[in-house]
Amino acid sequence: MDAAALLALDAAHVWHPYAPMPGRVPPLLVTGARGVRLELADGRELVDGMSSWWAAVHGYRHPVLDAALAEQSARMSHVMFGGLTHEPAITLATTLVDLTPDSLEHVFLCDSGSVSVEVAVKMCLQYQRSRGRGDKRRLLTWRGGYHGDTFTPMSVCDPEGGMHALWRGVLPEQVFVPAPPSGFGAPPDPSYVDTLAAAIARHADELAAVIVEPVVQGAGGMRFHHPEYLRVLRELTEEHDVLLVFDEIATGFGRTGRMFAAQHAGVTPDVLCVGKALTGGYLSMAATLCTAEIADGISMGELPVLAHGPTFMGNPLACAVANASLGLLADGGWEHDVKRIEAALRAGLAPAADLPAVRDVRVLGAIGVLQLDHPVDMAVATEVVTAHGAWLRPFRDLIYTMPPYVSTDADLAVVTSAMLAAAAAA
Ligand SMILES: *Cc1c(COP(=O)(O)O)cnc(C)c1O
Repeated sequence: MDAAALLALDAAHVWHPYAPMPGRVPPLLVTGARGVRLELADGRELVDGMSSWWAAVHGYRHPVLDAALAEQSARMSHVMFGGLTHEPAITLATTLVDLTPDSLEHVFLCDSGSVSVEVAVKMCLQYQRSRGRGDKRRLLTWRGGYHGDTFTPMSVCDPEGGMHALWRGVLPEQVFVPAPPSGFGAPPDPSYVDTLAAAIARHADELAAVIVEPVVQGAGGMRFHHPEYLRVLRELTEEHDVLLVFDEIATGFGRTGRMFAAQHAGVTPDVLCVGKALTGGYLSMAATLCTAEIADGISMGELPVLAHGPTFMGNPLACAVANASLGLLADGGWEHDVKRIEAALRAGLAPAADLPAVRDVRVLGAIGVLQLDHPVDMAVATEVVTAHGAWLRPFRDLIYTMPPYVSTDADLAVVTSAMLAAAAAA
């Protein structure tokens, strides 16, 4: 079937993310991908500045990941995880426990990031109930966050971006504090610390947990904050008998310059969610890690099991490719790459500060963001960036990149010049 026929069927039947049916801007038809390049049906090649929603950190068709997948599929693609186990899952869980702070000991494998947040919340509520604190069942978060699209994660997404008004009466009403002051390097604001302290103290009796994205708020607005606020949250949650959940689905595996963003603060949460780059962008998989205290609490409670078990839990193909991806990260070369990318993004995006429509230019690790003073016209921006040979997916007032770690300086120059062009056209 030719490209036009496929796109007509796509428009007729295929629902795309965050889109009406049919979509307003027709999607590009991709026929292949290799390294950092997407190959389109019309013969064009685009340098991918998105890592396929921040997941494909090693690029596409990486020989090590391809081989891991092929080897595993020759053994078994899937078996149920109830009553059965296998080496790929055991290795993955053990590696995650080794990589993350010491007190995180137990791993629940999930099929997507949103599900890992559901599991994290279920763990927290069930733990509180097990110890006779069933009244502690609300969550506190700061505004500007994003934790996924199923209903529980939606309830802790930014109330405006998450359209809470549309879902009043449907979503559980969580406790929101203002977004953390912007700037990774900006000195911590004592009055914001007071705001956090007052809110946690006031709601302590009803709070099961505080949940936040550490250091970088991703899909809620691509904002960075000082790690000190995470240390403050750790102290306050301990003081008030509240659990602390870090959602590192976007920030995990090196994206911010540390293996996990929590390491910028030296803070260990009670529960940690990882996903996105976990499988190097090959397959859908996420994980929820927790402390022995939480696992023991649940396992000795009134319902002494964690009542969760996705059909494709612990999928061996996803585990095998995750193990291969973590293997590629193990030599620490990613750290050098992320530093190199950070420098290239800083240099490449600096001229944007002089563009009239640009309100802010910010870079942290392998994340580069141009924030405009008005919403981006998606159709125009897509036209401009693809004409410059790049693939980017701006949203709201943001033109940003989270490139694969294997991007060369020349690839990054394509991405940053496309970003500058899109901002100039806006
Ligand atoms: C993407 C994302 C999620 C949701 O993950 P899915 O795999 O899309 O369900 C949750 N939290 C954060 C921080 C994310 O970036």
